[in-house]
Amino acid sequence: MDRDKILLTPGPLTTTLRTKLAMLKDWGSWDADFNAITARLRSRLIDIVHGQDTHVVVPLQGSGTFSVEAAVATVTPRDAHLLVPDNGAYCKRAAKLSQLMGRKVSLLPVTEDRPIAAADVAARLDADASLTHVILIHCETGTGVENPLADIAALCEKRGKGLIVDAMSSFAALPIDARKVRFDALVAASGKCLEGVPGMGFVFIRKAVLDACAGHSHSLAMDLHDQHQYMEKTGQWRFTPPTHVVAALDEAVTQFVEEGGQPARLARYTENYRTLVGGMARLGFKPFLAPAVQAPIIVTFHAPADARYDFKRFYDGAKKRGFILYPGKLTQVETFRVGCIGAIGPNEMRQAVDAVADTLAEMGIASGVPAL
Ligand SMILES: *Cc1c(COP(=O)(O)O)cnc(C)c1O
Repeated sequence: MDRDKILLTPGPLTTTLRTKLAMLKDWGSWDADFNAITARLRSRLIDIVHGQDTHVVVPLQGSGTFSVEAAVATVTPRDAHLLVPDNGAYCKRAAKLSQLMGRKVSLLPVTEDRPIAAADVAARLDADASLTHVILIHCETGTGVENPLADIAALCEKRGKGLIVDAMSSFAALPIDARKVRFDALVAASGKCLEGVPGMGFVFIRKAVLDACAGHSHSLAMDLHDQHQYMEKTGQWRFTPPTHVVAALDEAVTQFVEEGGQPARLARYTENYRTLVGGMARLGFKPFLAPAVQAPIIVTFHAPADARYDFKRFYDGAKKRGFILYPGKLTQVETFRVGCIGAIGPNEMRQAVDAVADTLAEMGIASGVPAL
């Protein structure tokens, strides 16, 4: 097979040839040509959330988690008290990184197969006046469940609480409109639904809270207020930028706009999702989540009940046929995950289902039906 393996993961993702080709050039980090790319990219990122009037965007080197950490460090004061509704692994990660930097954190545990209920968040905020901010994971990639961003943003606004949104796996695919949904910070990254390559994140920060962010960060490298000021003043990144990643993301955003922006991307991913779930259902596989709470981003499937099933062998079989699957992240039940995002369409999803069918046959497994 001379095609690169198709990545059915939550990032890095399969990218287009155009995006890959955009990396075949060296850029001087101080040079006006590169600064122009950064400026254009920032402006187009803000357009995606309709935030030109209300928000700035601050890019940051590193994987997505670096930007989540930077957003918390920058936006919340050191004596902040953060509520983290928790229905999965990325919620737990956000809570942990906040705790490690000395913020007070309270968890609101929710079962992993359910979205966070806005009413539960409201009740918790009303019961504890010391809470200052909420951290919300928009699409909890650990399972694929979509949390109610608009409802939670509205109740935070009503109560004057800050809101930090990890929209890493939803940004550019699910609708997010800063004119309608108020957030203090919203975090995403290059290597997810914009279909760039991994290596940088970016954080939208509400202009009204930006000035007050000065001095919050315990860390020099994570200080988005400083990064923003420097960028505004010089047009440059504070420290060495991931130049090739920036150029690739700029090219990926051009293709995003050509495709028709967020609605078109959501439509393609939704078709990928339907093709995948329909095909897998014919093989007997059952998704972990009810369709109503599932985002068309990544699907968690129950492992087959058959005693011959073993994730490692299943993974290797799919890989041999050109598809990279993803392990499950649940502790209670055995699962695996399949991403619907990246520069792929329903054809690749049909081929992926065929690869799974052939792999099951090779393993001597008659069907994907789970134990329940
Ligand atoms: C991918 C992702 C992240 C960032 O993960 P990295 O491995 O640091 O890139 C954070 N939150 C969510 C919800 C994600 O899907």
